[in-house]
Amino acid sequence: MSTLTTVNNLGLLYKKQCYAAAKLSGYNIVLAYIKQLASLCLGFPHSRLALFDYVGRAFVWVGDNEKSAAAFAYQLALSSPKYYAYCDGCDTGLCVDMSRFVCTVCEDRDLCKSCFDKLESNDLGEVSSSCQGHTFLELDGISIARSSSTDNANNSLLIEQWLKDIADL
Ligand SMILES: [Zn+2]
Ligand SMILES: [Zn+2]
Repeated sequence: MSTLTTVNNLGLLYKKQCYAAAKLSGYNIVLAYIKQLASLCLGFPHSRLALFDYVGRAFVWVGDNEKSAAAFAYQLALSSPKYYAYCDGCDTGLCVDMSRFVCTVCEDRDLCKSCFDKLESNDLGEVSSSCQGHTFLELDGISIARSSSTDNANNSLLIEQWLKDIADL
């Protein structure tokens, strides 16, 4: 098995542990796994596209929207202009010129603006029933693109420092 596959599998395992712990309100346990994810990001930059997704979701499950948005912004810096996500309502590839809505409760659910509006009016079939009462984190494309701009030479230093701070929490 390649190193990349091993790292990705390990990252996915940590994400699953985060999700299970978040359901049991085990904040410290979630944080312990987030630190592991941050360490993986530092050691294996090629796996960051997937790892940042796990970090962003794990933070949102424990209510830290600010760190969650930062993780998704850093992820976007790697895949811009596309988010590394599809809308679960209409399968559209989510793009930076639109808002991305991340469910703060589900393990892996993203919506585009128009599907999010349908959800609000209870008009999105299966997603409406499974996300009943769930709140969403809105990632605003324009501002997130600015904060993750790769034109900024300091940005990669910023990302490294951010990951180190998390790993040391
Ligand atoms: Zn959609
Ligand atoms: Zn949900």
